[in-house]
Amino acid sequence: NAAPLGSSVIPIVNKLQDIFAQLGSQSSIELPQVAVVGSQSSGKSSVLEALVGRDFLPRGNDICTRRPLVLQLLQTKSKSNGGSDDEWGEFLHLPNNHRIYDFSEIRREIEAETNRLAGDNKGVSAKQIRLKIYSPNVLDITLVDLPGITKVPVGDQPTDIEAQIRTMILSYIKQPSCLILAVTPANSDLANSDALQVARAADPDGHRTIGVITKLDIMDKGTDASNLLLGKIVPLRLGYVGVVNRCQEDIMLNRSVKEALSAEEKFFRSRPAYHGLADRLGIPRLAKKLNQILVQHIKVLLPDLKSRISNALVATAKEHQSYGEITESKGGQGAVLLNFLSKYCEAYSSLLEGKGEEMSTS
Ligand code: GDP
Ligand code: MG
Repeated sequence: NAAPLGSSVIPIVNKLQDIFAQLGSQSSIELPQVAVVGSQSSGKSSVLEALVGRDFLPRGNDICTRRPLVLQLLQTKSKSNGGSDDEWGEFLHLPNNHRIYDFSEIRREIEAETNRLAGDNKGVSAKQIRLKIYSPNVLDITLVDLPGITKVPVGDQPTDIEAQIRTMILSYIKQPSCLILAVTPANSDLANSDALQVARAADPDGHRTIGVITKLDIMDKGTDASNLLLGKIVPLRLGYVGVVNRCQEDIMLNRSVKEALSAEEKFFRSRPAYHGLADRLGIPRLAKKLNQILVQHIKVLLPDLKSRISNALVATAKEHQSYGEITESKGGQGAVLLNFLSKYCEAYSSLLEGKGEEMSTS
């Protein structure tokens, strides 16, 4: 049940896109983008990768992410739906929409393209790398992997590296539609968290910031993260999720995302301190939390969609009247759609009310 990001939202979004298509409308559901912020090596790329469920991002205990990576996930039709189950990536900077099916090749291309603009000596560039991932298993959403905050310039980095990276991060997360995953490792001081600090600068009320605590597996012996996760150290409106990603050795041994997820689950089961905190633990839990926020977002869009269907319905009925007879065509279809949509609104309202308390934990 390690549902990746979006799996529970995909059916809703697909249905709504169908409704748009039947209305002959050009517009579609625009989901907010999700960005990860935090200090270098806090585990940002690892978290994104685990959410997508595929291995393709450069990760490591050095500066790996040196240009913003804008990762657009695009859903394709699955085999059972008359398409194919192929998954591939396409880079904007490569000609002819060149498809890359091998995800480790995608990683190598990210590294090569990073070096091309930012050099091979730890330099950083604000120029984006844009990658589209096509798969039947994703929902249409954009994720942004960002360089981490560093304090001391190394290699070819300029003296104001910290300020430059902060400005770069803020340019993404200050957009009101951007959800922020603020990543802090459990073995550092939360009150000193770069992630929470930069997230707060962009989102002072904490309406769109989720706290993510990584590296629960390498905390000091005798300590655990329960106070962090309960919001007792730094309260956060949308709360925290604690995760265990792959360590450097796992990366070297090519452990898969799937193996990592079962190791994570096993870790939480083996620690009594975490037994009462299941609703704040694990990558699947983080995916679920994001899904709930996305559903909430869709719910906000529904009334507008509903009124557009109503208007289309009235306009069609008038048009038919002007022909002197009412036919059971578009008007009838419109009524069916409207009815359908109302049911959707009700279903998701109740879904959210049932789960509402999770959204407001601090
Ligand atoms: P980023 O710089 O924030 O993108 O961090 P990365 O995702 O590249 O991870 C930095 C290093 O920390 C890598 O060597 C990861 O294997 C390691 N790492 C990330 N998350 C965890 C975790 O939860 N536990 C352990 N033990 N290592 C982690
Ligand atoms: Mg990274």
